[in-house]
Amino acid sequence: MLPFDDRDGHIWVDGEIVPWRDATTHVLSHGLHYATSVFEGERAYNGNIFKSRDHSERLKKSGEMVYIDIPYTVDQIEQAKYDILAKQDMKNAYVRAFAWFGGEQMGIDTSKCVPHVGVACWDDWESYFDPQFKKNGLTLSLVSTRRPPPTTMRVHSKSAGNYQLSTCAKREAQLAGADDALMLDWEGHIAESSGANIFLIKDGKISTPKADRFLNGITRQTIIDLAHKAGLEVDDTRRILPEELYDADEAFLTGTAAEISSIGKIIENGNTHMFEIGTISTDLVNAYSDLVRS
Ligand code: PMP
Repeated sequence: MLPFDDRDGHIWVDGEIVPWRDATTHVLSHGLHYATSVFEGERAYNGNIFKSRDHSERLKKSGEMVYIDIPYTVDQIEQAKYDILAKQDMKNAYVRAFAWFGGEQMGIDTSKCVPHVGVACWDDWESYFDPQFKKNGLTLSLVSTRRPPPTTMRVHSKSAGNYQLSTCAKREAQLAGADDALMLDWEGHIAESSGANIFLIKDGKISTPKADRFLNGITRQTIIDLAHKAGLEVDDTRRILPEELYDADEAFLTGTAAEISSIGKIIENGNTHMFEIGTISTDLVNAYSDLVRS
């Protein structure tokens, strides 16, 4: 994979499309030192960004929650995303829209910080996980890193600060030999993986933890709708304990980058819990794949 700071192409920055290698920011940027940045991860399929407006609205809201006032409207962000896709001549791509505080001010005080906005896209992230996993499912490891209470972090903001937990959880899981992490919340309920929401299926019934303690993913909401349309029962309103997950027949992750990824096994304190790649999750994978391309 090519390094991200040394590629051909263009990036939209603060209202202008600039050559890829010129889309730089100073080492003394506030966002780099204090995690004052927010971002979106989106996917374009056949030239259409799936749930594009929802992502642009979430970007604005993520900013508001951490006092980064993005100086563009949702319509302008929409335009920027499609402009950069056109400039890059890409129809199937990962789209990253983001905002950060630059080098105008250092220190904890953000009152005089200046928000900057960028939109980039690339087309070599076709599969978020090693495509090999599709056969046997992902291996998750239950990690020690837990999701914090909403009184400590802005848990519904897709902001860089929250991702320190995710990057550490993912490393912890990889060092334990897994593909990704399974995180609990601070009270010990199932939360999510490092970058995706989690679902389980038991006796044909689908459950997913209530999303009031972590990101209520756009893919999560889409899968709930698709399951309802298929006449399936979905319980998304309660806390789920690890034992219930380990006892499930099928389990999968949902996220824009991860799409719908089946879980093959979960490693937990030396125990291994196995899951089938069953018909319900396979049907949902196919329904999602059709929907995003429709
Ligand atoms: N949780 C976390 C921590 C994530 O990073 C993501 C990916 N944005 C999700 C859940 C799923 O969100 P979405 O379906 O909106 O991509």
